[in-house]
Amino acid sequence: MPLRILNTLSRAVEDFTPREPRRVGMYCCGPTVHNFAHIGNFRTFVFADLVRRYLELSGYTVRHVMNITDVEDKIIRTIRENGRSLADFTGEYEKAFLEDFDALHCLRPHDLPHATEHMPGIVALIGKLIDRGIAYRAPDGSVYFSIQRYQGCGCKYGQLLNLNFEEMRVGERVSSDEYAKEAVADFALWKARVPEDGDVFWPSPWGEGRPGWHIECSAMSMELLGTSFDLHLGGEDLVFPHHEDEIAQSEGAGVQVPGERFVKYWMHGAHLLVEGKKMAKSLGNFFTLRDLFQKGFNGREIRFLLISSHYRESFNFTLKGLADARANVARIDEMIAKLTELAAGTSSTEVSPLVAEFIRVMDDNLNVSAAWGAIFDWVRETNRAIAEGKLTPIAAAAALAAWQKVDAVLGLGAPPTAEAPAELLQLLEERQIARKAKDFKRGDVIRDQLKGLGWQIEDTPKGPKLKKM
Ligand code: AMP
Ligand code: ZN
Repeated sequence: MPLRILNTLSRAVEDFTPREPRRVGMYCCGPTVHNFAHIGNFRTFVFADLVRRYLELSGYTVRHVMNITDVEDKIIRTIRENGRSLADFTGEYEKAFLEDFDALHCLRPHDLPHATEHMPGIVALIGKLIDRGIAYRAPDGSVYFSIQRYQGCGCKYGQLLNLNFEEMRVGERVSSDEYAKEAVADFALWKARVPEDGDVFWPSPWGEGRPGWHIECSAMSMELLGTSFDLHLGGEDLVFPHHEDEIAQSEGAGVQVPGERFVKYWMHGAHLLVEGKKMAKSLGNFFTLRDLFQKGFNGREIRFLLISSHYRESFNFTLKGLADARANVARIDEMIAKLTELAAGTSSTEVSPLVAEFIRVMDDNLNVSAAWGAIFDWVRETNRAIAEGKLTPIAAAAALAAWQKVDAVLGLGAPPTAEAPAELLQLLEERQIARKAKDFKRGDVIRDQLKGLGWQIEDTPKGPKLKKM
């Protein structure tokens, strides 16, 4: 059976047949780098990573693009308040984002385009929409996308969602610089420079200003993956208006080969919730990865939790759930350690039934919950065989090979064994000195500092050691 996925465009589970037989172009909307991302955001990025890894296991060569939104209203407001430069501020949060991304074992995308580095492409795309009469320049120099004119060209607005565009966006805040819109549903492609923007502006044929968020993704995805590509992902909150607007801009520009769509398959990940509500910065109910490191959890445990349920199911984040994830990761680690000891360097090319079952359920719209069911049945049976002394070295090697294949998708990887860097060992030493001097407060501060950097202190008969969390 081929891979089947739920395509938001058709609202149906479809066979996945990319435009070229063995290649997939994949775009996932990336972070807005104005703060630390929370683990709700990371649920979406880990979901995209899982999709990419599964496509690779299925034999596709994937080109994975994820943009970095490094200019936008919230960013401009914050740098104005803090007197920082755009590049300095967004650079700091991009670095933090990528550290967290790596800690969750997400494979780095092949391209990480920045909005600020793609202005010529963005301006050119807006120009095409103006030339086709779909976008218009307002008196203040802003440029808007006209949904009415787009529909007038025979295009459908509301492909991902059935929308009544007359009623749409009512209640959405219309900022004062958007007073010149022809219709309330129209959205900004180019925002004319205002004094509050400071030195954040670029030239364009319509005057100085900056792009709207939606046009950035249209321009960068088409520039890197072509005007038609296979797969576009994001969290479900992006369906409308962001992705609907991406389709309208990209198809409205008329750059596709006749009969081709902008994107063939759209996949959306469900939200991570806290007490039934979406985890969100605005609700203040969020955890960053760093918050969880402070609590002693590590990236593998958090990744496990984020991929423990099906991507179409929202689930509640709890610390208890994370503690259960930790126990499950430890169960797998213990079994792998025993298998490694038993196999003692033997190798095997036997194809385990676990791999066949994993592929069978993952082909069915990435049914990861069923995959975990099969994995933990296998862990139980394998542990029983080990305990009964029935597992030969060859069988142990085959089990290890099976896990390696499955884990190429799950991405838990091996437990960390890394030596701590010298400056951290120095901190550990300082903690020992503080404790000897009975300065326990300082000792605890250093312990928390190390935790924040992802290292836990473990007391051993040979004195305290640092263990990567
Ligand atoms: P942002 O940096 O706000 O543009 O968001 C980055 C990504 O995180 C987008 O794909 C959002 O859809 C996604 N996202 C935001 N909140 C959540 C959540 N609670 N659960 C899952 N994904 C989310
Ligand atoms: Zn986007």
